[in-house]
Amino acid sequence: MQIGFIGLGAMGSPMAGRLLAAGHQLSVFDLNEAAVAAATAAGAVGCSTPAAVATTAEMVLLSLPNSAIVNQVVSGADGVLAGAVAGCTVIDLSSVDPQTTRTLAGMAAAQGVSYLDAPVSGGVAGAEGGTLTIMLGAPERALPAVLPLLRILGKKIIHVGEVGAGDAVKIVNNLLLGANMAALAEALVLGKKLGLTAEVMLEVIGQGSGKSYVLDAKMEKFIMAGQFQPGFAVELQYKDLGLALDAAREVRQPLPMASQARQLFEMARAMGFGQEDISAVVKVWEEVSATTVRAEQK
Ligand code: NAD
Repeated sequence: MQIGFIGLGAMGSPMAGRLLAAGHQLSVFDLNEAAVAAATAAGAVGCSTPAAVATTAEMVLLSLPNSAIVNQVVSGADGVLAGAVAGCTVIDLSSVDPQTTRTLAGMAAAQGVSYLDAPVSGGVAGAEGGTLTIMLGAPERALPAVLPLLRILGKKIIHVGEVGAGDAVKIVNNLLLGANMAALAEALVLGKKLGLTAEVMLEVIGQGSGKSYVLDAKMEKFIMAGQFQPGFAVELQYKDLGLALDAAREVRQPLPMASQARQLFEMARAMGFGQEDISAVVKVWEEVSATTVRAEQK
């Protein structure tokens, strides 16, 4: 199938690689020329605008940082909708707000283009291994065409409702991810100040009721190793907590945990950790407390 892919970052690049490996023809666009060069070296065709990506594509996939960029890439002068022909399907894999998705879906429908939200969970490792969980917001009739493609990218494809529902459940999931990461960071620094080693905390919490996805994913590989290359960047988690707070404001729902967590991510950004992995929030408390949570030097 002729597929367009826009946004070849930490997630998009390995996803595009999987589509190429599955035998699809890919046309790609990204502002980052190095990312485009890597994709073309792997067999994709580089394009100069999102519109050019869309002209020949049966499906166009997006993996972009935020709602404003998705909006620009889809509805801008050289955007996807300027090139897409009737019958094309646009699938947004980015984490954005449901309203942006519904607005773009309305614009797309006016020219016979389907627009679906399919945000993902499972990180870069999931994108590389094709084991992502994909939360699909789509009308039932769209499923036969898109499921085979999404199964190349994810292990669990959950049809969660109409367009926008995927974004909504992703917001809820990432509220928990951010709050869990914030809680882990402060708990580990407390443990260190109480004289515990990182190894002991990992062993006990790993088998205790404090266990979480962030402990499994972030403790050894990032925090104990003292390496914070994303992974999932602080900026993106900060954005996702903002999406939760924005959505909550609209429905008059207080979110005290999300608000607190967002402040911690705000501190991490202020300290220059915005492009580092979310586990870098531990460094905020490490600096405040003049301690570090690392593997013991052998
Ligand atoms: P990233 O910042 O690594 O990649 C985004 C890519 O979009 C970059 O290559 C960038 O150059 C490109 N880009 C930015 N503006 C553009 C534009 N106007 N036109 C074309 N390309 C443009 O981000 P990522 O980590 O790959 O995340 C992508 C999306 O997936 C985000 O919405 C994020 O919240 C979500 N997500 C990320 C993870 C993760 O673990 N990284 C997990 C789940 C969901």
